[in-house]
Order: sequence, then structure tokens, then C-alpha cells
Amino acid sequence: MKFGVSYFGNRILEYVETDMRLLKTIGFDFVVHTYSENDFEFYEKTMHEIVKITKDEGLEAWLDPWGLGGFFGGEAYSSWVLKYSNICQIDSIFERVPAACPNNDMFRKLISTWIKSAAESGADFIFWDEPHFYQHFSKSGLWCCRCASCVKKFNELYNSKFPLKKSTRIKFFKMESIIDFLSFATDTAEKENIRNAICILPEAEESFLTKVASLPNLEILATDPYGILFGKPLKDYVKNETRKLQRAAKKYGKKTQIWTQAFKVPHENHKEVIKAMDIPLKLGADSIAVWGYKACKYISSISSEFPDELWGMIEEWVMKNEENK
Ligand SMILES: [Zn+2]
Repeated sequence: MKFGVSYFGNRILEYVETDMRLLKTIGFDFVVHTYSENDFEFYEKTMHEIVKITKDEGLEAWLDPWGLGGFFGGEAYSSWVLKYSNICQIDSIFERVPAACPNNDMFRKLISTWIKSAAESGADFIFWDEPHFYQHFSKSGLWCCRCASCVKKFNELYNSKFPLKKSTRIKFFKMESIIDFLSFATDTAEKENIRNAICILPEAEESFLTKVASLPNLEILATDPYGILFGKPLKDYVKNETRKLQRAAKKYGKKTQIWTQAFKVPHENHKEVIKAMDIPLKLGADSIAVWGYKACKYISSISSEFPDELWGMIEEWVMKNEENK
């Protein structure tokens, strides 16, 4: 059993060192550092230093393609979608949206340059974080993607015209497109000697998770059942998502990882969050991770209500279970 936490918002190396030392002392085993487009463009050597500091403190260092191309999860903007606007997804009323399409070759080239940099840093893992088609539509009923790359691929795969309306086949095509992209990404990373973990958003179909688990260069299959965010009864939500993930991973002998919501947590839910951390522990997940450091105290848009108190409880939980490992 390993414990991890995400870390972001600070690029001042002295403070990174202090924080990494503290995390190691508490009993964490790995740290997921966000490595956004902004970091890649302006902080590349600094990020490589952060990876080195993390490993020097005895922790595994992971890198997260945070918000890259708007295709991965994360509170980070994409400049690629402006600089290379042809990479963008096209919605069902033929309008461009601010997110790259996984079927676009240029987007894949950009991801390859990021993977190369991630590998050069000496990081242990890439954490492929919530890959998804664009879904932040204010108008309901719209969907993505019908860009030129998707239309071409659809024609090749099914030898039929791209439909105007959303259908079961489109839903399947989109899942296949994400799998194909992840296959490319994990194969590329493996060639660069960096290991792969993929985090799939909760409530995914088990057949989709199983296909992700089947990717030959995937080592860890993760999910992030942030039940409080989605207004779900947390205990059951975490239990069901953990079991489903484990069934998919087991078929291909992959490890599992469950994330804990430590952002946007109201005060009255603190105990519930901690109790929910026991579930993947009891069910035998291979690792449990927390999003994020200090219960996201320093990212005001998603900070927990009383982050110091919640983080203190998480520290206690990790220390207690670290002893029992
Ligand atoms: Zn597309």
C-alpha cells in the first residue's frame, strides 16, 4: 500500500524542499506534481529541479499533464488551443471548443514533446489525469467531436458517413478514440523510460475501464470518486467505484489507485472523507492518494472550508496507517 498526494501552485524550490521533507515524514510515498502547459513553457528546468528534490527526499515523483490541450483535467488553461487552433474539437453545431481532439495528429505531436520533457526530468510516473472529450456546454444537447480528424477516422473504422446526430455508435467511437490516444501516450512514455498511470473519471462504464486496463504499457489504473463534489453518498460511491476499478484492473494484472477528495469539502463532511479513505484500504487497493496538499488551502476557487483541520485529519490518517503497512 502506498500513499500519495498532489502538489501545485508553488515553484519556489526552498519551499518545495521543506514540503517534500514534511510529506516524507508524515508517511507519504509519492507526490503528483502538476506539469501544465504554463510550467512546460516557462518553468521546465524548475520542474525538473522539483522532480529531483522530490526524489532526493525519498519520494516517488509523478508528473501530471494538468489541463494539457484542455483534454486533461485540471485548473490550468491551454495556450495550445489558441496557437494551434486546428487541434481543437468541433461540437455538434460545427463550432470550435477550447479543447484539443485526441484524434488530432498535431495534438499528439505536442503531447510527445511534453512526454520527452517529463522523462528527461527523471520522474517515475506520468499520471494521465482524467482524459475526456469537452463537456462544459452551457447549452444542453451539444456534444463533441466532429472535427476533420474524427470524421476521417470514423469513415475508416466503420466505412460509413459521420452521423449528424449523437448515437450509440458515436458514444462507442468516442471511447475508442480515448483508448487509442492513451495507447499512443503510454507507448510513447514507455519508450522514453517513464512509467504510466491513468486516472479515469468516476462513473465510467466497466467495459471502458477494462479496455484501459488492457493497455500493455499501463501499470496503474486509477479513479477519483469525489463523491462530495457530485453530491453522492460518499461511502457507497467510493466502495462501488473501487470495486469496479479492481475488477477491470484484475483482468490484466494491473495495480489500482483511489483518489480522495480534499478540495471543496464543507466542514460537516470532514469525518465522512476520512472514513471513506478506509474503504480502498480495506478493499485492498494498491495505493490511495489525496487531492491535494494542505486540503487545497492555497487555491481559493476549490479550497476546503476549513483546510487546516481537514489536512490535519488526513496527516493523522496517513501516519496511523503508515505504521500498519
Ligand atoms: Zn475530433
